[in-house]
Amino acid sequence: MNSDRDGAIVIGGGIVGLATALAMAERGHPPIVLEAEHRLALHQTGHNSGVIHSGLYYKPGSSKARMCRAGLEAMYRFCAEENIPHRRCGKMVVAVRPEELPRLADLEERGRANGVAVRRLTPEEIQEREPEVLGLAGLWVEETGVVNYSQVSERMARRLAKLGGEVRVNHRVLAIRREKSAQIVETTGGLLRGSLLINCAGLQCDRVARLAAVDPGIRIVPFRGEYYVLRAERASLVRGLIYPVPDPAMPFLGVHFTRGIDDVVEAGPNAVLALKREGYSWKDVSLTDIADMAAFPGFWRMMRRQWRTGISEVQRSLSRRRFLESLQSLVPALTDADIERGGSGVRAQAVGADGRLIDDFHIQIVPGMVNVLNAPSPAATASLAIGREISERILAMRTAA
Ligand SMILES: Cc1cc2nc3c(=O)[nH]c(=O)nc-3n(C[C@H](O)[C@H](O)[C@H](O)COP(=O)(O)OP(=O)(O)OC[C@H]3O[C@@H](n4cnc5c(N)ncnc54)[C@H](O)[C@@H]3O)c2cc1C
Repeated sequence: MNSDRDGAIVIGGGIVGLATALAMAERGHPPIVLEAEHRLALHQTGHNSGVIHSGLYYKPGSSKARMCRAGLEAMYRFCAEENIPHRRCGKMVVAVRPEELPRLADLEERGRANGVAVRRLTPEEIQEREPEVLGLAGLWVEETGVVNYSQVSERMARRLAKLGGEVRVNHRVLAIRREKSAQIVETTGGLLRGSLLINCAGLQCDRVARLAAVDPGIRIVPFRGEYYVLRAERASLVRGLIYPVPDPAMPFLGVHFTRGIDDVVEAGPNAVLALKREGYSWKDVSLTDIADMAAFPGFWRMMRRQWRTGISEVQRSLSRRRFLESLQSLVPALTDADIERGGSGVRAQAVGADGRLIDDFHIQIVPGMVNVLNAPSPAATASLAIGREISERILAMRTAA
């Protein structure tokens, strides 16, 4: 059996697991990171929009608001120190219908409450920045940026190794049992012993908690986000990041345009229920995952509440014309010939037994285990702050014990 030098084992080699491992290592307790796949960051961390979010959207006082703000600065610092290509390009939120104006004003107020420097844009100022966008009013957020989070994760792993930590890929956690004060972890790569487990397993986090006989109190429901990309010759239609005014009832931001760090312009993502936790297309179906969802009363409560949005998202997923229409509300000049199918990502969205989509980050601490049970967007932006918070809470508990 492999034993960890000081007891901490992080489960999941996405950006949250790596940032947490790094924070532990920086405080003198380098852990082992176990990753199921053959490479790091293959799931949410490697399938996102690559935006460094400013903290505009989140409820003031929430963990998301707080950690996005702290994480944003830490992320820019980390990228600069590690020479990771990134761009602090700013972003625009655009109201295109009169009924969106009050929501835009609410968003502006919320951004200010979170300490985000937000500026109002007139229709003329919108056009100066984005000539193809016809908006009634807009917000400009200077601090937003773009980066490739897979690259960030690789550098986190490298820094972790320098501090004495270790990453083991092809180590899927299959079973966990408790022996006195130790946790015995059975993986596809062998057995490990640790005194503390930090579960950052993303789309599988509720299952990993249950492996350790811990009730997570939530269930992960996977929501796929699908993208189109603008053909290279038409990418000039979009200069930067263009977002719609979000629906406050939903935790997703609405389909938007993102000129990434590679200068490819992505359009999306939508949000459709995935039929498999790692279901990147409609062809990916897992009967186990579907049965698991169906057995969870919270799933049916969620469906009762959100069925209208759900049907409309499925229609938009299956109809290229519907997707294009959503994009045209922001960039009317866009035509069918300008877009082609892009990639997709699957969000690990925690749902409560009452059917509510858990909005805030959710970290559960029980003896011998920390479970990160809801780390959706902006958790990539916030990862370094999440890692710092988890490590400080663990070390404070150890000192108190
Ligand atoms: C479409 C989309 C767009 C997004 N856009 C943005 C954005 O622009 N900006 C932003 O800040 N955030 C964005 N996000 C959110 C962001 O990507 C996630 O919040 C973040 O990547 C979560 O990281 P994670 O480490 O928790 O999860 P993951 O990256 O999913 O990592 C979890 C890891 O755990 C591993 N694992 C699972 N089960 C086991 C097991 N049993 N044993 C060992 N390992 C296991 C998995 O293989 C995986 O590598 C987006 C997400 C999606 C899906």
